[in-house]
Amino acid sequence: MKVLAILYNGYEAAQAEPRLLGTVENELGLRSYLESQGHEYIVTSSKEGPDSDFQKHIVDTDILITTPFHPGYLTREVMDKAKNLKLCVTAGVGSDHIDLNAAVERKIQVLEVTGSNVVSVAEQVMMSILLLVRNFVPAHEMIENGGWQVSEIARNAFDLEGKVVGTLGAGRIGYRVLQRLVPFNCKELLYFDYNALPAEAEAAVGARRVQDLKEFVSQCDVITVNAPLHEGTLGLINKDLLQHFKKGAWLVDTARGAICVAEDVAEALASGQLRGYAGDVWNVQPAPKNHPWRHMKNPLGGGNGMTPHYSGTTLDAQIRYAEGTKTILQNYFEGKPQEPGNVIVGLGKYETKAYGQR
Ligand code: NAD
Repeated sequence: MKVLAILYNGYEAAQAEPRLLGTVENELGLRSYLESQGHEYIVTSSKEGPDSDFQKHIVDTDILITTPFHPGYLTREVMDKAKNLKLCVTAGVGSDHIDLNAAVERKIQVLEVTGSNVVSVAEQVMMSILLLVRNFVPAHEMIENGGWQVSEIARNAFDLEGKVVGTLGAGRIGYRVLQRLVPFNCKELLYFDYNALPAEAEAAVGARRVQDLKEFVSQCDVITVNAPLHEGTLGLINKDLLQHFKKGAWLVDTARGAICVAEDVAEALASGQLRGYAGDVWNVQPAPKNHPWRHMKNPLGGGNGMTPHYSGTTLDAQIRYAEGTKTILQNYFEGKPQEPGNVIVGLGKYETKAYGQR
């Protein structure tokens, strides 16, 4: 079979650090396994436009491996050209870069390495909440720039203790964030999700479910977004919803950039409606140099905690999603059943409840 992997270039870092498995150079550690089984393995970072390797090779690829970090966008149109495609494997979590409805129609299976980086992201969420609430980035920049004016930083720095924190999406990551928030003695922990947590899980973290989205956002000092991107979440956090946020709330989105409308978030930050925004996911990746989220600031010149998309791709996570990708391939080649939690789209139907209510 022909297996095509779209990965990001690791350059010198990947030569020096073999645990950077998700790079073009280190090929998810799959080459010897795949070739020993007689398969052809093509690895490339070239993914944009009709002349890209992605578009060239997809026409006779059987299995496509992609990552959310450098997404090969498998649109309906690209899928139309992929006559042999049977299986898409996301090395990581989040398969919104694949048109899942089109995959259902064509009986192309879509699998993820579910759970592989959920702790990595939950830790990033905690860091992002703290760096916004405590006004860390401007404080550090001041130091690098040779300054020392404590009042300029402290005037916009707060404690997380006593704040209301809510997660939009309380699945594997959202729940782990709630667990990690418990020792911070927040005033209240809330969640918004059409799938309710089991009562014991709710009780274990002391979280309360709010079923109306506007009511949910209006109660939170901090909101963390932990839902997949699908028809029901695309552009969900927009100008209208932002008006219902508490004035001066902090927003963290490490789920998918397109859940937020980029310009609306930048405006809300500039006006002070949001005090801070942090995350690592962007509506287009790599993000263009002029993307508003690179330089947006609150009225006091801070509140931007953006990074490139890396929270789920720590070295620890890369080992887990590379191993998980190999297991999915082995199961496929050997006709063994897949881990049910990994199956997003099975043969002609959604197997997950997380990509929207259907
Ligand atoms: P999960 O499937 O365990 O949980 C997702 C939860 O979101 C589910 O409980 C689902 O019901 C809920 N949800 C879906 N639509 C919703 C909506 N409209 N409103 C409220 N809740 C909704 O997934 P997970 O492992 O927790 O991952 C969540 C997402 O995080 C992934 O789909 C991916 O997009 C993103 N992610 C990002 C990174 C990163 O590196 N930044 C890494 C891993 C995952």
